[in-house]
Amino acid sequence: MAITEPPRDCDRCPRLRQFLLDLRDEHPDWHNAPVPSFGDPQAKLLVIGLAPGMNGANRTGRPFTGDWAGDLLYAALHKYGFSKGMYDARPDDGLALKGAMITNAVRCLPPQNKPIGAECTACRPFLTDQIDSMSRVKALLTLGKISHDNTVRALGLKLKDYPFGHAKRYDIGGGRVLFTSYHCSRYNTNTKRLTEDMFYNVFSSIREFIDAD
Ligand code: SF4
Repeated sequence: MAITEPPRDCDRCPRLRQFLLDLRDEHPDWHNAPVPSFGDPQAKLLVIGLAPGMNGANRTGRPFTGDWAGDLLYAALHKYGFSKGMYDARPDDGLALKGAMITNAVRCLPPQNKPIGAECTACRPFLTDQIDSMSRVKALLTLGKISHDNTVRALGLKLKDYPFGHAKRYDIGGGRVLFTSYHCSRYNTNTKRLTEDMFYNVFSSIREFIDAD
């Protein structure tokens, strides 16, 4: 099934659209548009972030590329065999994902990294479409509560049955498992809410689960 990516000038979220239009004036060399998913369409792992970061994906146009969160995420993907080539924080660094796909629950940069509920709802069909397009996916990894809650809703499940927390693991049917982690943001790592070891342990569990299939 083909994936429907949002159009560059998607206007379903007026606040986010205006924010991007203002940034296009300020930084005409930045991406400043919905950020498409990146990775392997045959992936067994789908990583779902919150939204593009100002100086990361919103600038470069590739999820998690160009900021601290990406440094940690791509290091974890490399360590557990989900990438080929070296990540160099640029969309033209030649990196390819191997058995993994990265997307975001909200495709446009939100002010202060905080999408409002209506924006999460408006963008959810693109997440649903991404999940539905991946016939081989076995593991879904949500990064942070907003990503997690959006993913649970996109799967048609009830939030009360799948509460967010770090390193949770939920059977969601069809042989698929939903893994969770605190978001790999600089704030979370600086405050030690999330350490590299905690993050790598989640990837280790995912690798083990996929390899046992
Ligand atoms: S966040 Fe999603 S739904 Fe909202 S404008 Fe961007 S692409 Fe469209």
